[in-house]
Amino acid sequence: MKKYLPLLLSLLLLTALLPFQGLAKEKDDPDVELWNAVNPLNTTVTFLNTGAHPDDERSDLLAYLSRGLGVKTSSLIANRGEGGQNEIGNELGNALGIIRSNEMIEAAKITGVKAYHLSETTSDPIYDFGFSKSPEETLEKWGEDLTYERLIRFIRSYQPDVVMPSFRNVPSQHGHHRTMAILSQRAFEDATDPTVFPEQIEEEGLSAWQVKKLYLPAESGDTATTSVEIGDYNPIYEMSYPQLGEKSRYMHKSQGMGKDVPVEPREFNLELQKSIYPNKEDDDIFANIPYDFSEWATVVSEDDISANLENLQKDLNEIVNLYPDREAILPNSQEALRNVQKLTDKVEKGDIDASVKNDLLHKLELKEEQLQKVSLIASGLDVKTTLDSEVVTQGESTKIKMTITNNGKQAIHQIDASLLTSEEWTVDSGDGSDIKKLEPNESRDITFTVHVPKDAAYYQPYGESSVQSGITFKEEGIETTNILELDETFAVLPALSVSTEPEDIVVNTADLKSEYTVNVKVKNYYKGEKNASVSLNLPEGWTSVPEKADVNFKDRLDEQKTQFKITPPENIEKGEFSAEAIVESDGKEYDTTVQEISYDHIKDSYFQYPSTMDGVAFELLKPDSLKIGYIESGFDEVADYLLDVGFDVTKLNEADLQSGDLSQYDTIVTGIRANLSRPDLIKNNQRLLEYAENGGHVVVQYHKPGDNWDTNKTPPYSLEIGMPSIEWRVTDEDAQVTMTQPDHKLFNFPNKITDNDWNGWVQERGLYFPMNWDDRYETFVSMADPGEDPFDSGILMTNYGEGTYLYTSLVFYRQIANQVPGGYRIFTNLLSYGAEEDAKEISAAKMRTLVERLANEGEFDSENDVHLLTTHLTAVSHYENKEQAEKVVKHMTSFKQLINQMLENKSISEKAFSDLDKEADNLIEKWQ
Ligand SMILES: [Zn+2]
Repeated sequence: MKKYLPLLLSLLLLTALLPFQGLAKEKDDPDVELWNAVNPLNTTVTFLNTGAHPDDERSDLLAYLSRGLGVKTSSLIANRGEGGQNEIGNELGNALGIIRSNEMIEAAKITGVKAYHLSETTSDPIYDFGFSKSPEETLEKWGEDLTYERLIRFIRSYQPDVVMPSFRNVPSQHGHHRTMAILSQRAFEDATDPTVFPEQIEEEGLSAWQVKKLYLPAESGDTATTSVEIGDYNPIYEMSYPQLGEKSRYMHKSQGMGKDVPVEPREFNLELQKSIYPNKEDDDIFANIPYDFSEWATVVSEDDISANLENLQKDLNEIVNLYPDREAILPNSQEALRNVQKLTDKVEKGDIDASVKNDLLHKLELKEEQLQKVSLIASGLDVKTTLDSEVVTQGESTKIKMTITNNGKQAIHQIDASLLTSEEWTVDSGDGSDIKKLEPNESRDITFTVHVPKDAAYYQPYGESSVQSGITFKEEGIETTNILELDETFAVLPALSVSTEPEDIVVNTADLKSEYTVNVKVKNYYKGEKNASVSLNLPEGWTSVPEKADVNFKDRLDEQKTQFKITPPENIEKGEFSAEAIVESDGKEYDTTVQEISYDHIKDSYFQYPSTMDGVAFELLKPDSLKIGYIESGFDEVADYLLDVGFDVTKLNEADLQSGDLSQYDTIVTGIRANLSRPDLIKNNQRLLEYAENGGHVVVQYHKPGDNWDTNKTPPYSLEIGMPSIEWRVTDEDAQVTMTQPDHKLFNFPNKITDNDWNGWVQERGLYFPMNWDDRYETFVSMADPGEDPFDSGILMTNYGEGTYLYTSLVFYRQIANQVPGGYRIFTNLLSYGAEEDAKEISAAKMRTLVERLANEGEFDSENDVHLLTTHLTAVSHYENKEQAEKVVKHMTSFKQLINQMLENKSISEKAFSDLDKEADNLIEKWQ
């Protein structure tokens, strides 16, 4: 069966080289589009690769099967990858799932594969809820019955000959991957059993389907039952199959996929798990499976049909051999189309074994589709669509133009262009949709008017397109029809979208503000003028200024922003609440946010969700004047969330790290995985350590193995991140947490941490827990996934010189982004460590630093005043050292008089005065 490829390719290679040998004056680029269409005529076999996330597909093997052998190949992916990270933007959750689904579509186009998903909507239970250690947990969350039912339905309708999960069911694997391996293997027996999900057969009209073989990727060459050489270079694509695979993987941009690989041999090792041919040799993936219609001819008992099948394959081979001659291919593919249709009739009526009949009819149906495509490409007809507007609203009429151009060398006859919509829609085609004849280089525009019903369904990112184009023509007495996607996304959206900034509200009951600002953005998708009023639907006791605001739009896509000041009730209760932004227009209410998702490498998409702000009120105590330096990694938004709740945060840039005064910060925090994205941090790591040594407090958030974390050099004392990384996680967000030093300051200042603060966490507890650390680190928490031994390294802290260094592998950034009060409160305590001592131990030296800082901030008018105060404080330091309490008190009293005078002269700001006056009192109190 593998006989075809080497022979064919060596011929292709030869023809590709010929022009060069013939003085290289012919350009003759390979006709990739045509080859993509004719190559599948070589075989009737089908292959299905199953995985859990978009990017799980084995792109190199799929490229070889689909583009090399012409096998009809598909990827079936469970979810949308919503739980992943995003390397191209800040979309997460469903919005990221939409990006990844569309990247999957573009990636699959390159390998000639079709991508399918088990997840059907943005609220589907088959969701990427984050890393999972077990298939049991995965299936509990996805719903085992629902997931399996959809998988069986897919196999019964797609009818693959060979199935291969991308991953094996081994403990070191992601639970989602293991789940798809388990279910795919189970389906081998169940898809063919009519008592499994019988309603699919009895009510939906599907047939039971016997998968012929199931392979797993082999663990090594030694355990492989079948090894396939896939490293070949293909001159048509001008690259090897692994290179084609990587070109496809580059489309998974949000996941940072794709790499450059050389042309070199590559073996893909497979292990046969299940087969309906138990005792036969298996040196080839498709061994024993009828590979094309001439092999089907030997399976069918009826002589007439058998002979027809034999002839059909000869015709198909002839078409492949005619490549790249489009003009010669067209009559042949039309003729083959006629023969396939005739043969389908015969097989339907023929007296052949029921299961063979079912299989064969399916193969003929696929071949008919493939031939329609070959005919369209060979005809040279090019179809372009242009939309009056990519966005429309219910009840609107819009125009879609189809431009049909004959790029071929022969006239094409009886062309019929159409738009396909669901039944409730109406389309006026004018009178130009029938074209008797289109000569070479001739082009025709057909403008359709599309009437969108008043109750048309809104755009669904995972649904079928609401409009497609259809093109039919007749040559050799046979009609060929192809259905195509529009060139752009066509979306029915609500007339008005309303969104809020911020999207969520955190209310600190310990520091209740008199008002919170909410910006409400309204966008008009209606064609033309629209007047509306915006308001906030607030919980009881809240007030809003203004209560309502008018917004007026002239045109589609206009936007308007309105600012609201909202005030919480003084006695606001702790807990969750929600508020809704609403727009009213013409007696209709709109409460949906439309998030536009637009990137160059994928088609435009839209995510619609309720315009509700989630709020939470809780007590968050903060030290008075904690000054934080934050080294952002770009992978979390913690610094902004801290600013929102009133922390004094400075984002540190390269210059700050290199030469800035770090001693001004009480605490310096690094964002998650900062060593991966901040080379300037690695370069200045020594300065960060010196900062700690000189009395600073460093808080480092988690790093992944491979993030440029050096066990011995990055932290002050050895700290080794857990490997293999899959094992060093606590993925159950509700896993029991024990605070092993509950009386430690970390759990008591400024917030008193209780078990309650560990409740309501999202996604997981922590990642990449350290597996080895120096004895000088203290541990504070212990936690474990169900049934596993606990990790003690969720928070590690050591004294270093005068200061402290803290490392945490807990995912505070997720908790903070999701308004989990405990996440804020515990993280605040980690940041505030040391600030308590500072507060108590006031000294003249500390006051001098305060004066200098205030001077830097411009709080003094005169250099002289600054000099006077610092000299004064230096003298006080002297008395402190000699423990002359009376003198300290006396001189601090005159210090107070000094700043009073300065205040009267207005040479010092009120803020500086009150800060210094308070600290002076503290110092006096200390020595009295
Ligand atoms: Zn995956």
